[in-house]
Amino acid sequence: MIKRETQVDQILKDIRAIVSQMVPKEARITEIEFEGPELVIYVKNPEAIMKNGELIKDLAKVLKKRISIRPDPEVLLPPEEAEKMIYEIVPKEAEITNISFDPSVGEVLIEAKKPGLVIGKNGETLRLITQKVRWAPRVVRTPPLQSQTIYSIRQILQTESKDRRKFLRQVGRNIYRKPEYKSRWIRVTGLGGFREVGRSALLVQTDESFVLVDFGVNVAAMNDPYKAFPHFDAPEFQYILKEGLLDAIIITHAHLDHSGMLPYLFRYNLFDGPIYTTPPTRDLMVLLQKDFIEIQQSNGQEPLYRPRDIKEVIKHTITLDYGEVRDISPDIRLTLHNAGHILGSAIVHLHIGNGLHNIAITGDFKFIPTRLLEPANAKFPRLETLIMESTYGGSNDIQMPREEAEKRLIEVIHQTIKRGGKVLIPAMAVGRAQEVMMVLEEYARIGGIDVPIYLDGMIWEATAIHTAYPEYLSRRLREQIFKEGYNPFLSEIFHPVANSRERQDIIDSKEPAIIIASSGMLVGGPSVEYFKQLAPDPKNSIIFVSYQAEGTLGRQVQNGAREIPMVGEEGRTEVIKVNMEVYTIDGFSGHADRRELMNYVAKVRPRPERVITVHGEPQKCLDLATSIHKKFGLSKRAPNNLDTIRLR
Ligand SMILES: [Zn+2]
Repeated sequence: MIKRETQVDQILKDIRAIVSQMVPKEARITEIEFEGPELVIYVKNPEAIMKNGELIKDLAKVLKKRISIRPDPEVLLPPEEAEKMIYEIVPKEAEITNISFDPSVGEVLIEAKKPGLVIGKNGETLRLITQKVRWAPRVVRTPPLQSQTIYSIRQILQTESKDRRKFLRQVGRNIYRKPEYKSRWIRVTGLGGFREVGRSALLVQTDESFVLVDFGVNVAAMNDPYKAFPHFDAPEFQYILKEGLLDAIIITHAHLDHSGMLPYLFRYNLFDGPIYTTPPTRDLMVLLQKDFIEIQQSNGQEPLYRPRDIKEVIKHTITLDYGEVRDISPDIRLTLHNAGHILGSAIVHLHIGNGLHNIAITGDFKFIPTRLLEPANAKFPRLETLIMESTYGGSNDIQMPREEAEKRLIEVIHQTIKRGGKVLIPAMAVGRAQEVMMVLEEYARIGGIDVPIYLDGMIWEATAIHTAYPEYLSRRLREQIFKEGYNPFLSEIFHPVANSRERQDIIDSKEPAIIIASSGMLVGGPSVEYFKQLAPDPKNSIIFVSYQAEGTLGRQVQNGAREIPMVGEEGRTEVIKVNMEVYTIDGFSGHADRRELMNYVAKVRPRPERVITVHGEPQKCLDLATSIHKKFGLSKRAPNNLDTIRLR
């Protein structure tokens, strides 16, 4: 993959000299290598380093690298024996539910219902485990819902650990190919998602590196590859891919318009480097990518990529939690910050050229607290250029306040149930679905709703992934789950729909019901099936709770279309009569509305010199940019796709 001149061998030689001076002999160093954005020191006797609490910090300071100390693979107990040993050490009451090993990082993951008992008083039990099995233990609470996605991702990482380590070393050698580099210039180019929503792809170039932020597909434009895919036809992009020069891809969040094209790169061997994102985003995007090709398949279309290409995405992903700073090339340092949009969503902060310039790319973000998440981070160590979304950037894009939106939602539901109808809420499987679930759960708990709530499509699986990452949820939810011991995701009012037969039973039943189904814009998935069959009956209601892109069936219905030709069984066109009531309640959006966007620019610290508006219809990007300039006097741009802006 790397076709660049590199000085890494010399750099490593210097590092080895420093390390062997600082680390005591009895640690018995066996190897020092870059693996991904870390310097890994393999030793036969890790305790010799661990007992000096300051040593790792000192090493990191001197070497200016993230340091990881790992036991030499030779001293690790074989997994079967290690597993037996762990069960012997940990008290039964801890209720271990799963133990899995990741040889590529020498880590053993222990899932237990009572993780505190695995750790022990002052970490005693954990220390004992480390001493006996030598693997580095990581302890997590057993998630209350089983996620097939998380399970299979772990499996892949475990079985592919040899490849994975090779890959990490390749990445490490690429990142540290030169000593910290002082760049001279920086440019950003829109390959997609500029003055539009869908296929987000932003290329950051310096005189040393190339980094891509997001690589999405516009699912609403799949019949026109020129609009659906990022600009593969941009000559510089072709050149970068062909020469293997792309250092990294960073994914802000899991939605397909930001992550949906990633597997395509592996299908055609266009990229072999690292993908950086948060752990929940990795899991959720894999789920959505799988769902995407399955929907294509069931529609009789040729899927854009294969399951094994998604597997490559997993193998190439390096996860970072919020706030972890990592070198991703000789002159670019990456940090991810909470974006408040969906679980794991991130604002990308790039520190470029050893103090030359700092960019924050918001991705999709929300700047007020929601039931699921805390508002987006607005504090950065340094910031010169802010690149922000503009989905609701028009002067009139003011969303209904949350409380009002919730009241309105409950009202519509009550009216519909009273007349014996069903409520269909099309929602993206990730984000809005869980947000609406949390609202309905609360009203059900206080006795406001007593009809079943069906969850169809990928929603249940996405919810399971939410329960696996409680630390990414809002403070309020964490309190409920951990302090009050009540997990609202597990409420018995929720019924996952297992198959199409159950779906048909729900549609045919005379009883009122609430159905939350993906996709959110009625482009494929079970929501379309429900819509077709529920639309003709005036007793029913459809409620849109999220953004409906131009060209989607959702937008058509939202705009009041009463007769919609659709391809039915056996490819015949049938006309669907829309007699059901149509509502839009936009207060649940995961996007900042116009007020939040302006407020974000007011609040973000430090104040940037320049704001670039992207990810919105043309008029909204322009309107927002102009208003920001007028109100804050900042330099502004609302570039088009294929425009390149020089930042320095
Ligand atoms: Zn999104």
